[in-house]
Amino acid sequence: MADLHAVAVSPLAHDGQPAATRLPSLDRLLRSAPCEPLVRRFGRSAVLDELRNLLDELREAVRQGQLEAVEVTDAALAGRAGERLASRHRSRVRRVFNLTGTVLHTNLGRALLPDEAIEAMTLAARYPLNLEFDLATGKRGDRDALIAELVRELTGAEAVTVVNNNAAAVLLALNSLGARKEGVISRGELIEIGGAFRIPDIMARAGVKLVEVGTTNRTHAKDYRAVIGPRTGLLMRVHTSNYSVQGFTASVSTAELAGIAREHGLPLLEDLGSGTLVDLTRWGLPAEPTVQQALRDGADLVTFSGDKLLGGPQCGIIVGKRELIERIKKNPLKRALRVDKLTLAALEAVLGLYRDPDRLAERLTTLRLLSRPQDDIREQAERLAPRLATLLGEGWDVAASDVLGMIGSGAQPVARLPSAGLRLRPRQPKRLRGRALRHLEEALRALPIPVIGRIDDDTLWLDLRQLDDEAGFAEQLAQLAVQTP
Ligand SMILES: *Cc1c(COP(=O)(O)O)cnc(C)c1O
Repeated sequence: MADLHAVAVSPLAHDGQPAATRLPSLDRLLRSAPCEPLVRRFGRSAVLDELRNLLDELREAVRQGQLEAVEVTDAALAGRAGERLASRHRSRVRRVFNLTGTVLHTNLGRALLPDEAIEAMTLAARYPLNLEFDLATGKRGDRDALIAELVRELTGAEAVTVVNNNAAAVLLALNSLGARKEGVISRGELIEIGGAFRIPDIMARAGVKLVEVGTTNRTHAKDYRAVIGPRTGLLMRVHTSNYSVQGFTASVSTAELAGIAREHGLPLLEDLGSGTLVDLTRWGLPAEPTVQQALRDGADLVTFSGDKLLGGPQCGIIVGKRELIERIKKNPLKRALRVDKLTLAALEAVLGLYRDPDRLAERLTTLRLLSRPQDDIREQAERLAPRLATLLGEGWDVAASDVLGMIGSGAQPVARLPSAGLRLRPRQPKRLRGRALRHLEEALRALPIPVIGRIDDDTLWLDLRQLDDEAGFAEQLAQLAVQTP
């Protein structure tokens, strides 16, 4: 209704008295000069529909006495229809600024791809490629073969297969190795990873009978040995990625568990979750288990995500013993969970960067952001704080401040990344602060490129670790219109 009033009233503003209702005919309006650019931009049929709706609404509003009799200009009607069309046709996939402090933010798309991967995806999207075609023999090929050698070189694994995500990798590996058999896992590792991924549920869906051993905080080798029997299909170890067990704890290492698995001729499956191919402590980051180490320790299959610490596209990577990977590839579920050509192209490019670990932090976007020096972020915060203070005015206390961020996506849940950013505090009395913060948070979210921060302790924090595009951010801020409560 509000936007009908604007259309109906504006053309009357200069001539005062409303004349009788004289809405233009749809056909004439569509051919009018103000509608021409709309037809060029949105197409004739979309403009026709929008104008028809607009005229119907106006007619109905007049009939119901909600509007006085109105006379409308072509320009006013075209303008309104254009706004509606533009908003309807705007992409729902929107770029945002992730200033939450969580680098691998699942809800904001996790890893950002390096240029090499983006170029590879563009190529794969635009042209035909040898996705499943062996260029040496001219025969049918295997899509996993495109990255197999690279993965072998980087991880030492005998074989690899790639699926849609790590949840799929775990489901597929469990089903291939343990269907109608028992899967043994420590009670301390029966985790839930946000969004309905729970190890017991995945096991059930994979057709594996869950056999829990040990307790939440302590599990010993003898606990595994006690339950292994003729129905056992596999032993499983899961990286407790998004929580940490501290205090009086004990768990069985991959190496020890691999020993037990070998004694009984059983496969050991290790879900590393994030997993990484490099020792992150080299860049001052908290240590995460590496895929190479899990394999060296004797895990027969290791699963990990493509878009967590690896810094690549969404996918799940399964590496390990050739014979087991072959079994997985024969599972019909593999066909349902396989990755597409764009993902494989991006994954190959990202893995390629790992061949040169010395330049990895420059080239792999995720690692570059994770290892960005705090001083660098501080300087940026100090540059931006005065601008934001001016924009927000008297009601806000704006300061550059040190903050603690995190890796995200379950990698090192307790570790914090010393970072810096903007600290925005409303100057209102305590009872009004919540509302002021909500208004500001909403205004930031409503920007053409939405800015996503984090509210904590009566303060809105914008962690700048991930702010690459400072000029673009400043441009957004200039458009900020905050409702003053
Ligand atoms: C993140 C995670 C998964 C799920 O991986 P997706 O790639 O998100 O499907 C599974 N297991 C562990 C331990 C994880 O951390």
